[in-house]
Amino acid sequence: MRRTLYSEEHEAFRKAFRAFIDHTAVPHVEEWELAGTVDRQFIRAAGENGFLGFEFGSEFGGLGIEDFRYNAVMTEEVVASGMAGDLFSMQNDIIVPYLRDLATEEQKQRWLPAFTRGECVTALGLTEPGAGSDLAAIKASARREGDELVLNGQKTFITSGATCDLAIVLVRTGERDGRGTTFVAVENGTPGFERGKPMHKIGRKAQDTAELFFDECRVPVANIIGEPGRGFGCAIANLPRERLSIAVAAVASARHALELGLDHVRQRSAFGAPLAQLQSVRMQLAEMHTDIAVLGEYVDRCVLALNDGELTAAEAAGAKYKATELQWEVLDRVLQLFGGYGYMEEYPIARMWRDARIQRIYGGANEVMKDLVGRAVVG
Ligand SMILES: Cc1cc2nc3c(=O)[nH]c(=O)nc-3n(C[C@H](O)[C@H](O)[C@H](O)COP(=O)(O)OP(=O)(O)OC[C@H]3O[C@@H](n4cnc5c(N)ncnc54)[C@H](O)[C@@H]3O)c2cc1C
Repeated sequence: MRRTLYSEEHEAFRKAFRAFIDHTAVPHVEEWELAGTVDRQFIRAAGENGFLGFEFGSEFGGLGIEDFRYNAVMTEEVVASGMAGDLFSMQNDIIVPYLRDLATEEQKQRWLPAFTRGECVTALGLTEPGAGSDLAAIKASARREGDELVLNGQKTFITSGATCDLAIVLVRTGERDGRGTTFVAVENGTPGFERGKPMHKIGRKAQDTAELFFDECRVPVANIIGEPGRGFGCAIANLPRERLSIAVAAVASARHALELGLDHVRQRSAFGAPLAQLQSVRMQLAEMHTDIAVLGEYVDRCVLALNDGELTAAEAAGAKYKATELQWEVLDRVLQLFGGYGYMEEYPIARMWRDARIQRIYGGANEVMKDLVGRAVVG
């Protein structure tokens, strides 16, 4: 079946973006994995080429294009290239709605031009050592003193946390319930704000993940993002897009892994014939191919629903858990088809497999996603 999600414009954009990452990212992947982060020159180049914040208006250096299919194209190409960085999904898929929909005009003028130039790496700080799935339990706080907020507390597991120029963090500003939290943007260099060292992860090594620390950190109240006291609601409004971004990456990764697996079983011989001649191998390929096709269609529909402002929290949660479960199953099966070679670092399937494990945990653990879908189904 022909995939109908994309138009010629999307495909032309795909070509341009792929050429860009093949030229500027792919040759450096190993170097960035060792460094624990992608380099700044690459991020600036991405900005110069219009790949960051293109949803923002031209007055901020964007293109004013609000069509998540472009984000999906980028995710698919990042996955297929083996780059496996979270830069684009973090900046374009996750942070953009906070700045586009919630930031004031003055804030936009302060941050968006640098964002689109690739000079403002951003991070989103929700999780804390004692509050991950249960976000309502966050303890990081801000108290108001005149025209300033004074932040105290800690965030953990924050993507781009070690390198961010701007962290948008959820802090407690009232009692423990949905209305007691607020998003605050904290610029790197603000006294009392410290970015931790990159944490040692089992995968996604070219992407830094770190703790953030706030110790009597003073920021102007002009750094509040969105309505004060309504932070939890803002997070909930933006989570479906984040979860869809993860689902798109998951399907793209499963699709790419299957292609790698197909190449391998056509070439690798055992018992006098290519592995692809074994019926049990072909049945596995059939299952993976069909599962990816079916789920891919659902995720494509979710992308269009997001574009139309109709994607529900439950639909996005369903896409996230189902796609990441499928991704894990496919990657593990394909790695098995590679035999011992699949366990070797120089084989892309090995890196894909270890990079994929977090997909079932972040953006909301899959058990939490199922609970969310279950509640919607029960009504
Ligand atoms: C590489 C990486 C990048 C990340 N990036 C970010 C980021 O940029 N910003 C950010 O804010 N956070 C980020 N996170 C944090 C991530 O979102 C959390 O780890 C995740 O939400 C789970 O929270 P937790 O780790 O505290 O696990 P817990 O909440 O302690 O949950 C542990 C496990 O318990 C089970 N569980 C929990 N709740 C339920 C439930 N209701 N029903 C059934 N089972 C349940 C699940 O199996 C879950 O995996 C990142 C994490 C990693 C590892």
